[in-house]
Amino acid sequence: MYPDLHLYIAGEWRRARTDMAVLNPATEEEIGRLPRAEIDDLDDALEAAEKGFRLWRRTSPRERADTILRAAAIMRERGEEIARAITLEHGKPLAQARAEVIRGAEFFEWDAGEAMRTYGRIIPAADGNKIAVHHQPAGVVAAFSPWNFPMSQPARKVAGALASGCSIILKAAEETPAGAIHIARAFEAAGLPPGVLNLVFGDPAEISSHLIPAEPVRLVAFTGSTAVGRHLTTLASENMTPVLMELGGHAPVIVCEDTDVEAAAIAGAVRKMRNAGQVCTSPTRFFVHESIFDRFADAFTERAAATVVGDGTQQGTEMGPLANERRVPMLTGLIEDAVSHGADLRTGGKRRGDRGYFLEPTVLANVPDAARIMQEEPFGPVAVLNPVPSLDAAIEAANAVPFGLAGYAFTNRADHIDRMIDEVEVGNLSINTLEASLPETPFGGVKSSGYGREGGTEGLERYMTVKNVWHSAR
Ligand code: NAD
Repeated sequence: MYPDLHLYIAGEWRRARTDMAVLNPATEEEIGRLPRAEIDDLDDALEAAEKGFRLWRRTSPRERADTILRAAAIMRERGEEIARAITLEHGKPLAQARAEVIRGAEFFEWDAGEAMRTYGRIIPAADGNKIAVHHQPAGVVAAFSPWNFPMSQPARKVAGALASGCSIILKAAEETPAGAIHIARAFEAAGLPPGVLNLVFGDPAEISSHLIPAEPVRLVAFTGSTAVGRHLTTLASENMTPVLMELGGHAPVIVCEDTDVEAAAIAGAVRKMRNAGQVCTSPTRFFVHESIFDRFADAFTERAAATVVGDGTQQGTEMGPLANERRVPMLTGLIEDAVSHGADLRTGGKRRGDRGYFLEPTVLANVPDAARIMQEEPFGPVAVLNPVPSLDAAIEAANAVPFGLAGYAFTNRADHIDRMIDEVEVGNLSINTLEASLPETPFGGVKSSGYGREGGTEGLERYMTVKNVWHSAR
């Protein structure tokens, strides 16, 4: 069920001199060995991607779309196999892995269609000439995808690049390589020319420091932590290479007094525990009007504590383990720090069992601003519930972090919604829903949450450059 793991360079699957273990985070057992790319492999990938770009950029948008749609159809056909591999390497419940595969296929399908409508525009100039604005593929993309969504995260980047006519070298996450391997397999079966998509794994720092300054690379696309994003942006700035950065978040949820309290609390608790909280848009800091706080906190805690935690392959599991071992001390440290600052631990707080990287669903209430968790993204199944006296106080608290990715609110008051649209500092604001992004909508952050957008027309534009053509006919 778990695929053989290789590098994919110039249309060929290859091994390397050294490899590393891939573990199942629910059992800590080894499920595969992943080759570690060396500098020669990276140079081959650069050469292949350069050749691939020359070919792919001249392939018509419709033909590109046909190939991408064929690959997406293959991913859907192989959906069950891909989902099972994702659950084995990542730990998430099978139902969530299945939904991720469909989501990944949708990214390809939407970008394939939209890229056929890259029209440019004609500008009638003052002197009577006609000036044309062309959108052209940027070139070779160096992309880095994280482990929290092993298939849909690489899908976003590969979809944007290939639909726009770019070639790509993707370094997917070493902890969760199977999603990206399945994407490459699907494109191989769909007839993508060699070199257009290349896949490498290895030492992330070595790979990024070799690929990013390389001459053919014209865009760096990264999803991961703000610290690494900052480092890669610095590397890219040496050549003035543009970057697309999807970084951390610390999403606020403003719960107003007019809302259906229990429904919002239950929706919040369920969403918080999805993917074990390892989602950059995960709702984390709940600012609840003080008049409804106790009811909200009771309902939220009850639902969070009832979350069925276990191996993602088992039927009924709602939350799997954390994706890797280092997340466990990182999260228990944040929780202990909050409690030592006087936070009220409503439920959870500890590692569960002695096999697998399981953490109890955790709810902290009345957390003082001085606690680290009020500034640091937990990226795990931990929620903060704090009462606020007014919408002013809620908006101020929502904005009091360096991040600005997703934000949520529960209210039906038009005046409240109006103010939040104007004042909450995020790239994605969702009212009465905890969904934050779709293939057709631009997704990304402000402040330290990143730069640029993925998805929607805005996302495809990142993979293209603008050429203004002034053709004087007289
Ligand atoms: P990390 O900062 O060590 O790594 C984050 C990601 O960057 C990983 O995929 C890693 O392989 C990659 N990476 C690390 N160093 C790199 C380098 N020099 N060059 C290229 N890639 C490099 O953190 P982590 O422990 O893996 O993840 C935890 C943090 O990462 C979270 O707190 C969260 O903020 C962030 N994260 C965000 C997302 C997201 O969707 N925005 C996804 C995963 C992780």
